[in-house]
Amino acid sequence: MIKPIVAGNWKMNKKINEALELVNNLKKIVGNITEVDIIVCPPYTALHSVSSVLKNTNIEMGAQNCYLKESGAFTGEISPQMLIDVGCTWTILGHSERRQYFNETDTFLNQKLKYVLTTGLKVMFCVGETLEEREENLTESVLRRQILEGLRDLQPSDLCKVVIAYEPVWAIGTGKNATPEQAQEAHAFIRALIKKEFGEDAGKNLPIQYGGSVKPENAKELISQEDVNGFLVGGASLNAESFAQIIKACIP
Ligand code: PEP
Repeated sequence: MIKPIVAGNWKMNKKINEALELVNNLKKIVGNITEVDIIVCPPYTALHSVSSVLKNTNIEMGAQNCYLKESGAFTGEISPQMLIDVGCTWTILGHSERRQYFNETDTFLNQKLKYVLTTGLKVMFCVGETLEEREENLTESVLRRQILEGLRDLQPSDLCKVVIAYEPVWAIGTGKNATPEQAQEAHAFIRALIKKEFGEDAGKNLPIQYGGSVKPENAKELISQEDVNGFLVGGASLNAESFAQIIKACIP
């Protein structure tokens, strides 16, 4: 059985004091949960402070993005090595907001993913269709393209450091989550594709998170789907109580 994995993507929210308050509260509520892997992804400016609170706890820290070089003249960018240095064990890559507002393409994301995996950082790799694409029945072809191009040249053994987050763009920050059946259908498609491309074991063991308006009220139903192995949570992760309720809903 795949261990559930729940991550909070704080996006461009929380100044240092607010981040500390959130993570201290979270530690109090879920600090003893071992049945679920828990990750928080604060903005870069809060990583150092949050890291000091999370040291020696069950809660891991991730970044929301990173670049594909170790160091150098890349103004405004942050390297995986810097993230590891500050205490991150994860990074998100390919979030739909990066694809949409910062023009990150499948090819660029593939370059980043390959580089990041050489550094030891683990990756939550986001995929998902827009509403228009879903309405035109393009969901599977979009997922196939994002996964085949995004994961191009990876070896089956690389996949133990990768989690896929299925995040339908129309469900992100809209309050409108995918139904459990819609999520299961997309997750089953993703798992079958990974099995076909990377082998039975890689597909069977791959955690697939759902993301898109996950709330305490819908978490239980979504996680009960066979191929839903956890969540990537935006809005509801900004409050310790609601994020904790989502985490608790994932305890098998
Ligand atoms: C996200 O941005 O990864 C996300 C899922 O956001 P929300 O939970 O707010 O829809």
